[in-house]
Amino acid sequence: MGYDRFVAESGRVNDVLNAVNLLTWDARTQMPAGGTASRGQQIATLTSLARGIVTGPAMRDALAAAWDEVAAEPEDSRRRRAVAAMQEGLAALDRIPEPLLHEAALLKTEAQAAWVAARARSDFPAFRPYLERSFALQRRVADALGWAEHPYDALVAQYEPGMTLGRLRPLFAALRSRLVPLIARAQARPAPRRDFLERDYPVDRQKAFARTLTELVGFDYGRGRLDEAVHPFEISFTRGDVRITSRYRPNFLPAGLFAALHEAGHGLYEQGIDPELGRSVLATDIVNLYAVGGASFGLHESQSRLLENRVGRSRRFWDLHFPLLRDAFPQQLADVSAEEFWRAVNLVRPGLIRVEADELTYDLHIMLRVELEAAVIAGDLTVADLPAAWAGRMRDDLGLEVPDDARGVLQDIHWSTGYVGSFPTYTLGNVMASQLFAVAERDPAVAGGLEAGDYTPLRLWLNQAVHRHGRSRLPEEILRAATGGGLDPAPYLAYLEAKHGS
Ligand code: ZN
Repeated sequence: MGYDRFVAESGRVNDVLNAVNLLTWDARTQMPAGGTASRGQQIATLTSLARGIVTGPAMRDALAAAWDEVAAEPEDSRRRRAVAAMQEGLAALDRIPEPLLHEAALLKTEAQAAWVAARARSDFPAFRPYLERSFALQRRVADALGWAEHPYDALVAQYEPGMTLGRLRPLFAALRSRLVPLIARAQARPAPRRDFLERDYPVDRQKAFARTLTELVGFDYGRGRLDEAVHPFEISFTRGDVRITSRYRPNFLPAGLFAALHEAGHGLYEQGIDPELGRSVLATDIVNLYAVGGASFGLHESQSRLLENRVGRSRRFWDLHFPLLRDAFPQQLADVSAEEFWRAVNLVRPGLIRVEADELTYDLHIMLRVELEAAVIAGDLTVADLPAAWAGRMRDDLGLEVPDDARGVLQDIHWSTGYVGSFPTYTLGNVMASQLFAVAERDPAVAGGLEAGDYTPLRLWLNQAVHRHGRSRLPEEILRAATGGGLDPAPYLAYLEAKHGS
């Protein structure tokens, strides 16, 4: 009975947070500019309502009774995991005082607006006071949550349970030592032709092709939609309704196409959650008060990177499907072969902008951000010194001079919105994607499917290994069960070496 009450209370939290997701999706795809201020208040009210249910007396009472009921069950039973997940989430929320959360919510709106204006004028000094407040506030969050080795650990664990700076650093060092020479070799080769990527590609036909491509890889349009957004993202309102977005540039074909594949990878994850986890705490991120089925930010990113890069940027994929693309754009691609297209979308060239980076340089962009944000959180680097530190790292790592702060320290939204500690999950996603893909490819059905352009066996494999578990297991438990080992950069490096090494 206690467990039933706990399930009912958890369902209410999930309902409210799914409503927040709907308001968020709308704000980023449909809402006119005039809606901004009131939408912010609506989301804040609903989020605090969800927090109130989690931390309220009814939940605490139900949780205590539910514990008694499930205590004798095996440690990994879903009922026990559900109770434990809520208990841990509640403990984290209890550690962060309400006034601190309120201050963070207010600052987020203010700082984000200041960031948009400062980036447009490349004016770091205008943004600096907001960034100082934002980092100071995140340090207070870290201290409230608690940490042992480094304050950054408390922040990164919000997005990737169990992850610490001490675990990230050797992983980064292993990647860096192989990426740097690979980038040098790739840069020494002549660039393939890319002229055809920048021809005139009507957006309505790009949209139609993105739909074709996402259907091909198994995104279920009976339980999902594809829309346009300035910054592509995926968000779900339960497994039965998963929204993905892309952004199309009329004179640059790859942007919209690969964004759609990337978000479809996130979408397959959410659509693949076991139905019995619906509306439960195992499809809810209590710490971040966010309705989501995926086990962590990093594991989520592994699914999008797997589809975008391991499948979508492979030679095999374009050998099979380039004719479809040429059917969509017969004039634009009349003089282009599948191989030329594949080479063009895999060009390695260091650039200033993270979101435009190729596979080899992407992780260096992440390492730069992680080292800098960890140093600021620890008090080893001041916000005032960030632009110079950024420029120095870009020079050392990628050999590039940063011409202005808009293309340097001001380029990402993360720090203005309080997402300090989330950057590592992009690289963790790359690493886990290759670990999972290496095992999946050994399955004859998956290998045969990839050979034939049938992605159902791969989707079913990922569903079995990753998607269906929702948040009933920790990301590293899922990884271990699927691959037989923990986090390991070797398969990722072997893939990059094979693809870009010669
Ligand atoms: Zn993503």
